[in-house]
Amino acid sequence: MLALNGMSVTRPAGLSEAVSLSGLSTLGVGGPARYYVRAGSAESAAAAAAWAFAEGLPLLVLGGGSNLVVSDDGFPGLVLHLLVRGVDAVNADGAVEVSAGAGEPWDGLVERAVASGWAGVECLSGIPGLVGATPMQNVGAYGQDVSETISRVRVLDLRTGALDELTGADCRFAYRDSRFKREDRGRYLILGVTYRLRPGGPPSIKYAELERHLDTQGIATPTLADTRRAVIDVRRRKSMVIDPDDPNRRSVGSFFMNPIVSAGEAQRIEAELRTDGTLAPGDTMPGYPAAGGRRKLSAAWLIERAGLHRGYRRGNAGISTNHTLAIVNCGGATAAEVVALAREIRDRVRDRFGVTLVPEPVFVNAEL
Ligand SMILES: Cc1cc2nc3c(=O)[nH]c(=O)nc-3n(C[C@H](O)[C@H](O)[C@H](O)COP(=O)(O)OP(=O)(O)OC[C@H]3O[C@@H](n4cnc5c(N)ncnc54)[C@H](O)[C@@H]3O)c2cc1C
Repeated sequence: MLALNGMSVTRPAGLSEAVSLSGLSTLGVGGPARYYVRAGSAESAAAAAAWAFAEGLPLLVLGGGSNLVVSDDGFPGLVLHLLVRGVDAVNADGAVEVSAGAGEPWDGLVERAVASGWAGVECLSGIPGLVGATPMQNVGAYGQDVSETISRVRVLDLRTGALDELTGADCRFAYRDSRFKREDRGRYLILGVTYRLRPGGPPSIKYAELERHLDTQGIATPTLADTRRAVIDVRRRKSMVIDPDDPNRRSVGSFFMNPIVSAGEAQRIEAELRTDGTLAPGDTMPGYPAAGGRRKLSAAWLIERAGLHRGYRRGNAGISTNHTLAIVNCGGATAAEVVALAREIRDRVRDRFGVTLVPEPVFVNAEL
């Protein structure tokens, strides 16, 4: 895939073999990488990718490993740990453009934005992982998505070997989705991302749960810092920040996306639930308007109505005791156990509602 552009191909410095990937993923499952290398610069990343190409090896780019399910067989190619650092902020027409290297920890960048009074990412506090992965699935939470602020993504195009810059619009963002995850999967190394933030802007409070939490704190006009604190509090209650003392800490966050169905499909499901008594008169099924007149349903609600609850165990994998959407490694789980539980959840929801849940994480050498 990579055009080498006359680059001389040598074995990357610091290359290791048979490196366990379970320790490099937040779920804590997965076998070894055949080869593994850390790249702290665009040049070393390009050279390592060129070597993998020349050797005929598949390439896996690794960030914080917080959205990966790696098979117990591991990965048979080169795992390129992309750790380009650096943050730069410039004022631009009343906004501030913050450019960060792919290897910057995401939450550190959010913390800095909030402390500087730059609005636009405050609701994305507490999300693990690195900057380079944020465009991949258009990272989002509590009514905010990175697509709202990403203005440019710096990439190495492995198809042409060229360095390029994509605009936010070029990324074709959608709900937990982008071209990087979809039609251009594996095509780009994301080297850095620029976010266009609003200096002195107000926080974005669109989510009822967040609003309620701020209310309970007696905060009527929250600042960016209040909002960040509230988001982290709410996330912590759901084990959605990684805390070494939390037994639910080994996960990839939400395992399934909220399904988006036609309005007619949503009505059919609701009518059936009314008929079988699951929904009492006056109760409604949770759902939110989505693009094109469709409805976004709550995957967690459907899973619970399919009879699977928090704390449910299957071997050493389980549903988080704090969050129905999170599958956790309860200690010593294999990837096979995680996948078996995910299949059970998907199949139970499909059998009950005719809706097929789509997983959020990336499966490496494995599938659902
Ligand atoms: C507790 C917890 C809570 C979470 N909460 C949320 C949430 O609220 N919202 C949300 O959207 N996500 C959430 N996630 C998922 C995850 O944190 C995000 O998707 C995050 O952006 C993944 O970043 P990462 O660096 O860990 O990526 P990785 O897991 O390392 O990689 C994910 C994918 O991106 C690719 N990739 C990574 N970096 C690059 C790069 N530089 N260039 C090209 N490809 C790359 C990888 O090859 C892989 O396909 C949560 C996860 C956990 C564990």
